[in-house]
Amino acid sequence: MIVVMKVGSPEQEIQRIETELQDWGLTPEKIIGKHKIVMGLVGDTASLDPLLLQEISPWIENVLRVEKPYKKTSLEYRNGEHSKVVVPTPNGDVTFGVNHPVVVIAGPCSVENEGMIIETAKAVKAAGASFLRGGAFKPRTSPYSFQGHGESALELLAAARDASGLGIITEVMDTADVDKVAEFADIVQVGARNMQNFPLLKKVGAQDKPVFLKRGMSATIDDLLMAAEYILAAGNSNVILCERGIRTFDSQYVRNTLDLAVIPVLRSLTHLPIAIDPSHGVGVAKFVGPMAKAAIAAGADSLMIEVHPNPAKALSDGPQSQTFEGFANLMQELSVIGKAVGRWSESPVIVG
Ligand code: PEP
Ligand code: MN
Repeated sequence: MIVVMKVGSPEQEIQRIETELQDWGLTPEKIIGKHKIVMGLVGDTASLDPLLLQEISPWIENVLRVEKPYKKTSLEYRNGEHSKVVVPTPNGDVTFGVNHPVVVIAGPCSVENEGMIIETAKAVKAAGASFLRGGAFKPRTSPYSFQGHGESALELLAAARDASGLGIITEVMDTADVDKVAEFADIVQVGARNMQNFPLLKKVGAQDKPVFLKRGMSATIDDLLMAAEYILAAGNSNVILCERGIRTFDSQYVRNTLDLAVIPVLRSLTHLPIAIDPSHGVGVAKFVGPMAKAAIAAGADSLMIEVHPNPAKALSDGPQSQTFEGFANLMQELSVIGKAVGRWSESPVIVG
């Protein structure tokens, strides 16, 4: 349920209403929108009469029920206003959200050694990326494949951040590692395979770093939104949703089916920013560019692209990784689309 306040409502009155709602056993969350203040109420609101709530104050414009099963994640909960996720990095604040330049996250699938991660950080920064990605803990289909260097790779990511000024995003797979990963990362990634790992979602929801939540490969859009709801319900509303391809019936030419329709669909259902990962989406380096361009044209707020100094020798996901040169060229091409839709920053990082 949301309580929409009239424009110009006095702060004192808002505080009084908050206290009264608490007396009703509710936990109001004040959301300051561009034009209006909204108070979100979740919990046991089924038996509450919206008309009765409305009578609390003449400054209340409207009391509306959020009909969707995902409450805090829904667009209704913010009275139709999209939210943004602002992430501090050494180069300045980077904003993910509608009406902001597309944020490009780039880097290798896995952090392999210090030299390659620092070299990649510098190369992707020079090409215009704002974040460096790199897995320390890797979810691999086979237990015999490279599993990532774990904790020691977090230190290497920190060194790459120092060397480049880029923000760092890396995946956490285990609840036991959340504190450690959050200590190093500027954004914590929950991967496709863990999208419905509910203890993990609760744990990343209970810490402060923004969360990059990837859609499970067999998850519906509602499944993704309910997974996000776990994180928001636990107290963290800085969530970026990421489409990375789903399983359909034809995997002969592409690794997954990149569902770009999620962009307009999610935009109509949730206030959260939307990212697209075309690298895992198609799994073939030469198909990544066209899908990245399409994602920007369709309104994506962010892109995640795998880049490796020598894809042929990569310890994971080489076939879908761009070379430095390929990535720099791709960024040039993306800038044309980004500028056409008014969402491209000349400088890689947006300060302020
Ligand atoms: C990754 O980002 O390297 C990764 C493993 O992604 P996903 O969870 O989408 O497979
Ligand atoms: Mn990968």
